[in-house]
Amino acid sequence: MTTISRLAIVGGGPGGLMLARLLLLRGFEPVVFERDQHSGERPQGGSLDLHEETGLRAMSLAGLAKEFAAAARPEDQGDRLYDQHGTLLFDRDGAGDSRPEIDRIELRRILLESLPTGVVQWGSRVEAVVPRTEGGYDLVVAGAGQRFDVVIGADGAWSQVRPLLTEDVPRYEGVTLVELGFDSLRHLNVDALVGRGKMFAVGDNRVLIAQRNGSGHIRGYAGLRITESEAQALAAKQPERIRAMLVEAFAGWASELIDMIEIGDFIGVRPLYAMPIGHAWRNHPGVTLLGDAAHLMSPFSGEGVNLALADAVDLADALASADRWEAIAACETEIMKRAMPAAEGAAAGLNGALSSQGAAPVLEHYRERVRG
Ligand SMILES: Cc1cc2nc3c(=O)[nH]c(=O)nc-3n(C[C@H](O)[C@H](O)[C@H](O)COP(=O)(O)OP(=O)(O)OC[C@H]3O[C@@H](n4cnc5c(N)ncnc54)[C@H](O)[C@@H]3O)c2cc1C
Repeated sequence: MTTISRLAIVGGGPGGLMLARLLLLRGFEPVVFERDQHSGERPQGGSLDLHEETGLRAMSLAGLAKEFAAAARPEDQGDRLYDQHGTLLFDRDGAGDSRPEIDRIELRRILLESLPTGVVQWGSRVEAVVPRTEGGYDLVVAGAGQRFDVVIGADGAWSQVRPLLTEDVPRYEGVTLVELGFDSLRHLNVDALVGRGKMFAVGDNRVLIAQRNGSGHIRGYAGLRITESEAQALAAKQPERIRAMLVEAFAGWASELIDMIEIGDFIGVRPLYAMPIGHAWRNHPGVTLLGDAAHLMSPFSGEGVNLALADAVDLADALASADRWEAIAACETEIMKRAMPAAEGAAAGLNGALSSQGAAPVLEHYRERVRG
């Protein structure tokens, strides 16, 4: 095996941090470039469930199973489904399921605490990745280039690394989520609706989602079908104008559901994008992708973080193998193969949750899951 003297990971999300941890365990000295100034700079998003064969396996291989178990919430795996009139159609408390939840911020904390100080270069937005004629890449940060032999793009939806390998870009999925926050002690009606995990209320091309997080928080999403330019215009509005638009869009829904829009703390507007299903990229020695940078999909399959963590495991093994770039080519094929059913599931999930058939497709999906 030839040694890699300079290995950069662009992006300190779950995928990039997991890769850094696994590479350190294999004797590498990776540097993670992260645009955030520090770990608490922005809200990290809601609760994630880790799956046995991908996310949980990665935590265990990284030697972090104990830390994960201490922060995880196995008790919050339930599902509830309402229609737009507030009628409860499905209720499963999820006790004993094998996909424990964890707050995204807690997952990031565990991964960060597993890395020596200095591995993550905070406040380092990579502006460009430029191939060098003599081999390797210049990572441009704050206008200055730094040379690396190997660059891994773990920089999410709008990756700066991806354009080196493919012309494919994320496409708007036709759906935008407005993210809301609740406190389970202050918002007792929302607490009662959510049950032991998450709830969907589904109507004609509109959805309200709320999910229990740690520390008494509940994260909510109001989803609707609008165009990309409408989503951009919405994101530029003041929170109270956004709330008023939502109340109008959900007119006719049960009052306890409309209440969620009226009382939730406004967090942000999230238009949903996805890479084309089944897209692949050119194998190119010295650079590759993982996680959302490789296969962004809407959150409706609940697989995104699990795939990012599993990709990190496979890439760490490939980077450590004797025939490194052959192993990485095989790994890239595996990464895309694994992502394909999840991407199809995400597209089907999104179209099932926001359709003209109301709650029926989601109810059928839950019943199928119970039937196994
Ligand atoms: C609303 C919502 C809900 C979701 N719910 C779930 C769920 O329940 N289950 C699930 O499995 N997945 C869920 N996902 C998807 C999941 O969050 C992602 O798939 C996962 O975070 C991907 O991890 P990643 O490390 O590849 O990328 P990211 O988490 O996007 O991390 C990328 C990192 O790169 C940094 N970065 C970006 N550009 C640069 C740059 N130029 N220079 C330096 N740093 C950069 C970013 O700051 C970020 O820290 C959800 C997503 C959304 C939007």
